[in-house]
Amino acid sequence: MNSTVDTKRIQALDSAHFLHPFTDFKDLNSRGARVITKAQDVYVWDSEGKKILDGMSGLWCVNVGYGRKELADAAHRQMLELPYYNSFFQTTNVPAAQLAARLASLAPKVGDRSFDHVFYSSSGSESNDSNVRMVRRYWDLLGQPQRKVIIGRVNGYHGSTMAGASLGGMGGMHAQGDLPIPNITHIEQPYYFEKRLPGESESDFGVRAAGWLEAKILEMGADKVAAFIAEPVQGAGGVIIPPDTYWPEIQRIVDKYGILLISDEVICAFGRLGHWFAYEKFGYKPDLITFAKAVTSGYIPLGGVMVGNRVAKVLIEQGGEFNHGYTYSGHPVACAVAMANLDIMERENLVGRVRDDIGPYLARRFEEIAAHPLVGSTQTCGFVAGLVLVKDKASGERFDPDLAVGMMCRAHCFGNGLIMRAVGDRMIIAPPLTMTHAQIDELIGLIQKCLDLTLAETIAKGLRV
Ligand code: PMP
Repeated sequence: MNSTVDTKRIQALDSAHFLHPFTDFKDLNSRGARVITKAQDVYVWDSEGKKILDGMSGLWCVNVGYGRKELADAAHRQMLELPYYNSFFQTTNVPAAQLAARLASLAPKVGDRSFDHVFYSSSGSESNDSNVRMVRRYWDLLGQPQRKVIIGRVNGYHGSTMAGASLGGMGGMHAQGDLPIPNITHIEQPYYFEKRLPGESESDFGVRAAGWLEAKILEMGADKVAAFIAEPVQGAGGVIIPPDTYWPEIQRIVDKYGILLISDEVICAFGRLGHWFAYEKFGYKPDLITFAKAVTSGYIPLGGVMVGNRVAKVLIEQGGEFNHGYTYSGHPVACAVAMANLDIMERENLVGRVRDDIGPYLARRFEEIAAHPLVGSTQTCGFVAGLVLVKDKASGERFDPDLAVGMMCRAHCFGNGLIMRAVGDRMIIAPPLTMTHAQIDELIGLIQKCLDLTLAETIAKGLRV
């Protein structure tokens, strides 16, 4: 029991005053929020003293794990030196300039597709709003203002602001607030388990799924399309990992029509897939990269857009003022924490560790779960993994979504000291990149246990035999 926190009192304040993101307020108030009070390494604790293995790195962000004093020290030092100054008045600050150069140095150099510039924000959503502004400005400057259409994907997630939610393809979000905004449209996602034709191989499916982009470009008019935006691996959509054939075909199509490619790496960058930037893994070359979350391991908000040379050159050489920016663009404290975070990642070789050690180990152990009677298939990529819960293993028949079997499983996970996220009938993890083999074993054991409990509950409720 954490004696300093009165759980009931905090819950009462919370339900009286705090409207949580993506939450049914009434439902939460009827039960009370779990109060998380501290964290260390890969674990968090609630106010009742319960220790929970964080299989989600917070919200896909705490890549270096919890309790890093070094990051607190960097923030403390910078707050005393220069806690804030803006970058609007032809001014800069030391950490913002240093971090921009460092981020540029982390991206591979490939001509026009090299990244020498960064535009800062404080979140993934803001960064994608910046992308929309920047992409349209780019085509305006090139004398093609009719190129306004940006194509995203169904079940993609690009944030929760008006532009972010529009670029994303979440039906529930579009239904609230008249979204998407004009000139944003979507193609289907490359979800093999759901979208394959009978007998279709994964590689054939990948090429066919990429072909949906070409069809959409032709439908909209090739001269009207400005950009395509996608996550390398769809995270919030349920860890949807595309077949290997998907991205090369997407690259061929965007090149053919000259449209810009935006890689939204808010989840996938900074080691999550075993590379600094995730496009390296799939071998494509974006023009813009959205980043946020793990650039500071979530210790302080920071986001931005890596602006490739194709776009930067036009904005710099042909542009006048770009009428866009945020109070916190290049926030010195956030940038100082990011520098210290990158120091840790480099010193502990977290990127290489995911690629060569814990990534393959997680893949091997997670695959064992595929044998479970409740599991239709499992996938891993770097240090993210997902599985789909099925009603009938032999046929792959899925549960009625109204039964919310994923939420049932998530509740068993919470109850047994594991944070595993449910997205419909998919269960997903993205643990801190510092996880040891023993902790991965612990994670797999907990997942197996919670699947057993979920199976027993579905049988007891007559949802399957
Ligand atoms: N893009 C992607 C791919 C994301 O996963 C997220 C957040 N989960 C966002 C954008 C939005 O980031 P934020 O919540 O920081 O605005």
